[in-house]
Amino acid sequence: ERAVIGVTGLGVMGRNLARNFARHGYPVAVHNRTEAKTKALIEQFGAEGDFLPAETPEAFVASLARPRKIVIMVKAGASTDAVIDEFAPLLEPGDILMDGGNAHFADTRRREKALRERGVHFVGTGISGGEQGALEGPSIMPGGSPEAYEHLGPILEDIAAKVDGVPCCAYVGPDGAGHFVKMVHNGIEYADMQLIAEAYDTLRLGAGMSPEQIAEVFRLWNTGRLESYLIEITTVVLSHRDAATGEPFVDVVLDQAEQKGTGRWTVQTALDLGVPVSGIAEAVFARSLSGHAGMREAARVLPGPSGDGLEPSFADDVEQALYASKLVAYAQGFNEIQAGSAEYGWDIDLGAMATIWRGGCIIRARFLDRIRAAYEADPGVPTLLADASFAAELSRAQRAWRDVTVAAARRGIPAPGFAGSLAYYDALRAERLPAALIQGLRDYFGAHTYRRADRDGVYHTRWELPGNPEIRVDV
Ligand code: NDP
Repeated sequence: ERAVIGVTGLGVMGRNLARNFARHGYPVAVHNRTEAKTKALIEQFGAEGDFLPAETPEAFVASLARPRKIVIMVKAGASTDAVIDEFAPLLEPGDILMDGGNAHFADTRRREKALRERGVHFVGTGISGGEQGALEGPSIMPGGSPEAYEHLGPILEDIAAKVDGVPCCAYVGPDGAGHFVKMVHNGIEYADMQLIAEAYDTLRLGAGMSPEQIAEVFRLWNTGRLESYLIEITTVVLSHRDAATGEPFVDVVLDQAEQKGTGRWTVQTALDLGVPVSGIAEAVFARSLSGHAGMREAARVLPGPSGDGLEPSFADDVEQALYASKLVAYAQGFNEIQAGSAEYGWDIDLGAMATIWRGGCIIRARFLDRIRAAYEADPGVPTLLADASFAAELSRAQRAWRDVTVAAARRGIPAPGFAGSLAYYDALRAERLPAALIQGLRDYFGAHTYRRADRDGVYHTRWELPGNPEIRVDV
């Protein structure tokens, strides 16, 4: 009973997390359904630390110090339930079972409730950073009981990425909060990548630049406010040439983006909560559209415009459009976290979420410090776009943002991320929205009633009567 923590599921993530624990000096119990993976881990990396390999769940559990802390790193879904069912009977009240897979937060809520009834703490934890993050320091988003975090938190903070000495790990909130935040993180990641892709496409097709030239542009952007992991790796991918053909790598890859589901969940959940996350939705739909090979083939008959080329100096404007649209996507994502937190009573600290995404994860970026500062200045700010310093930047960016959106439209370059986020910006700042007309139409055909801007009450217009008299219906 000397392992401080145990990892079961030694796939890509589990294996690297286990090594991360061991490298930080924690005796770590390791177990995998297929024993060969456990053996391979010990053979290859056993010298890195104090590993306690176990063949069976029973031996694994027996090697752990109390309260037992077990990290499950298996395929999300039915596999996670199978593993929980296998381990739960072996645990005692007070033990902690953490799921580090990409679970849906609703599943986490269900599992947490069931285990709580047996006295076992279930800690649904979002982990981001891929293979390298797991090994060298991921961003960690743990949910569950504060009591479980007291035991597990210090270890997780120890192995997490650090930015300015601050760990990229903080207690998120009860039950499904950690997986909810991880889900939105992934949704934002979708939007970020879509916007990067639109910036590339606008420069490639609009300004006629080569992938290498565009890589240079991104390299420059990465020295400024856009500095981030995704911008950095964009320069690498754009500079890469295919060994077989000598062509730019981006020209030989099939242009159909795949997805594993967390972006879709983010949008589905936002629809349920009534939160407009158009930037993330456009990104999910853009991936989906790219995969419809048949529709795309059939639509080749549709005519496009004949536009002039753009000057490469247009890149500065594209930077503005990219930055402003990115800001919109993040603002929307944080609104979704806010709404989820209110719906489920999680009391999530939004500024802390920006803090733990600064390192380790895929959307790590300099810019997140600014989001943290915005929430510090006003924890109740209804949208990040209203933060004084972001509003000032949007004001400076809007001319270029509009120009890029127009330029893309004129040249027939699809830029739903830029255009959609600009429309969101304009809708938020509009004094009057045409929603008033929609209310009128709803009242006409369905007597759905409306409220008036000038006085209280709920009204209906008798559209069928001469003179269309209005009646108040709430008295
Ligand atoms: P891998 O495919 O590399 O490994 C899957 C692991 O799950 C294997 O150890 C496998 O065991 C185990 N497993 C699958 N089904 C069962 C089952 N029914 N019972 C017991 N064990 C089972 O996956 P990853 O490490 O990539 O991912 C693990 C989790 O982490 C997933 O939820 C994923 O979404 C999440 N994640 C992945 C990231 C990444 O970048 N890869 C990033 C963040 C989260 P066996 O060897 O016996 O088949």
